Amino acid sequence: MKFENKTAVITGGSRGIGLAIAKKLASQGANIAILYVGDESEGIAAKEALAEYNTKVEQYFCDVSDFNASKEVVDKVIEEFGGIDILVNNAGITRDKLVLNMDEKDFDAVIGVNLKGTFNMIKHTYKHFMKKRYGRIVSTSSVVGIMGNAGQANYSASKAGIIGMTKSVAKELAGRGVTVNAVAPGYIGTDMTNALSDKVKDAMKAQIPAKRIGTPEDVANVVAFLCSDDAAYVTGEVIKVDGGLAM
Ligand code: NDP
Repeated sequence: MKFENKTAVITGGSRGIGLAIAKKLASQGANIAILYVGDESEGIAAKEALAEYNTKVEQYFCDVSDFNASKEVVDKVIEEFGGIDILVNNAGITRDKLVLNMDEKDFDAVIGVNLKGTFNMIKHTYKHFMKKRYGRIVSTSSVVGIMGNAGQANYSASKAGIIGMTKSVAKELAGRGVTVNAVAPGYIGTDMTNALSDKVKDAMKAQIPAKRIGTPEDVANVVAFLCSDDAAYVTGEVIKVDGGLAM
């Protein structure tokens, strides 16, 4: 049980990649705090999906783009769980459009959740990890943060920003036993990508050397490694989980 007596906070842990990460960590003993923004039933469903692992699981309604709300929830988790060992910044949204049609709201919303949300969560756990002289921070970037993608200027910028933030905070916290890494998934089958048309899906699949769409579990396995003590000497790294798409 690699994560016995460890507490992991997972933003966007109610479904998709975040829920797969929650399951993977809980299956190895981690207590889990899930942050979500949608319907309460989603949070409850996630809690039920994790019940079989018999670890402590709580879900918190929290819009990670809200600086004060995310601080309140981080403080609450520290109080209710007795501390935090692992932070997984996974919450993310898309508002895909060509810049021609992208308005200010589309840009601000995506940067607000994906990039500022990641900053907010790191900011509010930073001192806690420093004092503890231990911590694992893993954020979900994307291959489009490395390659760019037409129609995703806002999203790609947010995901590229996560890479810069990851490397900067890794340098700040490396001497304190805190590692800070990112994963860059390619095309993973979740609600986010199910919303794409079949034509777009087929075109994307054709570009993947592994010839299959990734699963949330493919990403969760790599995140779990980065959260483990096996990865103690890995920091400031971005690991692509993309079946070779962006090599
Ligand atoms: P989903 O759309 O399936 O899930 C998104 C999750 O983020 C949900 O749990 C949602 O909560 C949560 N969320 C959204 N906005 C907020 C917010 N303001 N505050 C807190 N939580 C929020 O996405 P995926 O599982 O596909 O994606 C997870 C991450 O992986 C994202 O960061 C995404 O950008 C990234 N990614 C995904 C890829 C893919 O192909 N799927 C590829 C590359 C990166 P709720 O359920 O309450 O709505």
